[in-house]
Amino acid sequence: MQSALQARSKLPDVGTTIFTVIGQLAAEHNALNLSQGAPNFAPDEALVDGVTKAMRAGHNQYAPMAGIGALRAVLSAKVETLYGVHYDPSTEVTVIASASEGLYSTISALVHPGDEVIYFEPSFDSYAPIVRLQGAKPIAIKLSSQDFRVNWDEVSAAITPKTRMIIVNSPHNPTATIFSDADIERLKAVTRNTDIVILSDEVYEHVVFDGAKHHSMARHRELAERSVIVSSFGKSYHVTGWRVGYCLAPAALMDEIRKVHQFMVFSADTPMQYAFVEALANPQSYLGLSEFYQHKRDLLTRELRDSPFELLPSEGSFFMLARFRSFSDEKDSDFVLRLIRDAKVATIPLSAFYTDGTDGGLIRLSFSKDDDTLIEGARRLRSI
Ligand code: GLN
Repeated sequence: MQSALQARSKLPDVGTTIFTVIGQLAAEHNALNLSQGAPNFAPDEALVDGVTKAMRAGHNQYAPMAGIGALRAVLSAKVETLYGVHYDPSTEVTVIASASEGLYSTISALVHPGDEVIYFEPSFDSYAPIVRLQGAKPIAIKLSSQDFRVNWDEVSAAITPKTRMIIVNSPHNPTATIFSDADIERLKAVTRNTDIVILSDEVYEHVVFDGAKHHSMARHRELAERSVIVSSFGKSYHVTGWRVGYCLAPAALMDEIRKVHQFMVFSADTPMQYAFVEALANPQSYLGLSEFYQHKRDLLTRELRDSPFELLPSEGSFFMLARFRSFSDEKDSDFVLRLIRDAKVATIPLSAFYTDGTDGGLIRLSFSKDDDTLIEGARRLRSI
């Protein structure tokens, strides 16, 4: 439709997300999809039955704005057991309509025009645009190009009186690294005696490999007191389309976050919340996830052993980076297109996770797929 109106874009340089673009290309070329971090296998039937049961029991209207009480209680208990800190279910736990919503509500509630927000690149693609939409300034600090660790001296140097927030994400999408004890100590040191809020994206909290522990901000009281933790049921229960997650924060911060949440979505899907109360009653439903995904990581690694790709270690998340620079000088986005067209397998170019398009000759592989897909995907990657 023609319109004389100017859209006057707030994000003129932003296009459609890479996940959508690659997903469409994959479909067009009938390529196997190792790109999006979304499982291609079914969730537990009991969970699906739980939703159906809740719908039949009449739980089809608005949930309370902060989430149903039973779910907030069970989440508070879970976090206290795992990480040793108590969040008051009535004021410090909120059920959100996806981690994406939680990120948006948090940044929108707490970041003012002119504030600076430090985050690390490569990064999940929504952080910087959300910051910009507040009239604030995203400050990207690059992870090291070899092993994708945080250089904390650079973080110290980047902090100014305008720094309002630091966004962290461990396990990390897209690089699959996790925070170490030393990272946590440095994070404490750089934020001590400041009023910086930490926004911690912990959607892969239950996908940590080789017996390592997940450093939730909730594990460290000093950090928990200044943190907003955002997590997601989508990743932990193989239901990324259900769009339900949760947010934890000290009451004073949560109070502000709820003011945005209530006007953005009001509340999260009701029947799903009832189903998650039942699912969370069995801790194995999330405690078994690391082992489940470690098997998939190891399978994909094994299948790519004799390929020309150099695989970087995956310490957590659904992802693994693969370097192709030793056998091709192509731009990573061209290489990914060639993989889709010729090898019929879809991946994500790492440059998509940088605002300046940094290209180190790396692609991101997602192993949140059934074993047959991983085996066939690896075969196609080997064929390039
Ligand atoms: N978090 C997922 C990924 O990184 C998908 C995100 C999305 O599609 N918006 O692949």
